[in-house]
Amino acid sequence: MRVLILGVGDAFTRRSFGSSALIEAPEGYVLLDCPDLIHRAVHEAAARAGWDVDTSKIDDILLTHLHGDHCNGLESFGFARRMRPADTGTGRAAERLRPRIHTSRPAAERLWERLAPAMDAANSGSPRGLDDFYDVRLLEPGTTASVAGLTVQCRVTRHSLPTIGLLISDGAATLGWSSDTPFEQEHVQWLDRADVIVHECNQPPMHTSIESLNALPPELTARIRLIHLPDDFDRSSTAMVPLSAGEVLDVRA
Ligand SMILES: [Zn+2]
Repeated sequence: MRVLILGVGDAFTRRSFGSSALIEAPEGYVLLDCPDLIHRAVHEAAARAGWDVDTSKIDDILLTHLHGDHCNGLESFGFARRMRPADTGTGRAAERLRPRIHTSRPAAERLWERLAPAMDAANSGSPRGLDDFYDVRLLEPGTTASVAGLTVQCRVTRHSLPTIGLLISDGAATLGWSSDTPFEQEHVQWLDRADVIVHECNQPPMHTSIESLNALPPELTARIRLIHLPDDFDRSSTAMVPLSAGEVLDVRA
């Protein structure tokens, strides 16, 4: 499974895009979170990696939570897909125009609260709802969902709002994605079944300190790559490898 890293920053970054990735799945591309400037983030990372992809080719979005540095791109992504039908003149069926968002029930229930002020078109005489832009599918803890040929499981983290970590498998290899979370041993143990673990690292108490990750067994830290980093992250503080935008993670068993 190949995973293109789009951004590695936190909510305050001046240098990167919000932490996010694009997965090359058996049945299409899967966006993992959708931060600000998503079209540019995908374009720049794809150009660096030599991938022939832009947001018009992405039909599935895994959404971990509703903090803006993970979901602010959904407004522009949704408008672009609805307003640029010319982009789909490649034989794609009309029903595929509406991208799918896969997320937790609490995030799904409040997603339109975030998007409606910009997207409901109340003054135009033709009000719209979330269903006009996106096909929302629920990810439920303890169950397995199928997304573009991948199997996806989720676990609720202890972040400041409902947030899910993810285990994503193509049948051969598994990617673990901590999402935003304070350090939690149970969460790390859940992620341990992955071949590669992308773990966040930022300021406690809502995020995970590098010291707590450094204290994990070497067998585990060898599989961890770091994301959601402050701009001034000290690379010398750990032997674990920080990710960078445009990098392709090759996830193998
Ligand atoms: Zn967050």
